[in-house]
Amino acid sequence: MMSPTHIAIGVVIAAPVTVFAPELAPLVALAAMAGGVFPDLDLFVGVHRKTLHFPVYYWGVVIPAAVLAVAAPSPVTIAAFFFFLSAAVHSVADWFCGGNELRPWEKTSEHAVFVHPLGRWLRPKRLVRWDGSPEDLLLTLLFSLPGLVLFEGPVRVLTAAVLVVAVVYAAVRKRVPDLAPWLAE
Ligand SMILES: [Zn+2]
Repeated sequence: MMSPTHIAIGVVIAAPVTVFAPELAPLVALAAMAGGVFPDLDLFVGVHRKTLHFPVYYWGVVIPAAVLAVAAPSPVTIAAFFFFLSAAVHSVADWFCGGNELRPWEKTSEHAVFVHPLGRWLRPKRLVRWDGSPEDLLLTLLFSLPGLVLFEGPVRVLTAAVLVVAVVYAAVRKRVPDLAPWLAE
């Protein structure tokens, strides 16, 4: 999935907070958006879908973060919980997408996401065939609805901006390997 989809999913994860603690909801949503994009920073450093993608270990942080958020509720502990929850969901979600190759529609990579405790890659399930595919864009649209409807201010503005990025990215996705060959290295 493209980063915009993961960012939108972060807002979906944070959406219940608008009911239980509306005063915290904007901060929590921003933290979940950051957690949603965080694993993909390994596009720039290390090995994509391995260096910062932890489909198992993030949960090992999510559980104590949940305990801490309940035991000592504060904006910081609650936001931290949602940050790691969003990063954990992202890391698992990539399993259902294409491989970590430059042209995932060619289906030459069997590397979806790396499972560190097993020391091996999970094979891509390809329910979302590639990042920026039509089905990926559809998911971004659907998951953006809570951010646009339930929130206002920076969360709504960011959600709209991310949605625009998603539309543009999906439109040019298949030309990205030719437009930006440096990505291939
Ligand atoms: Zn990812």
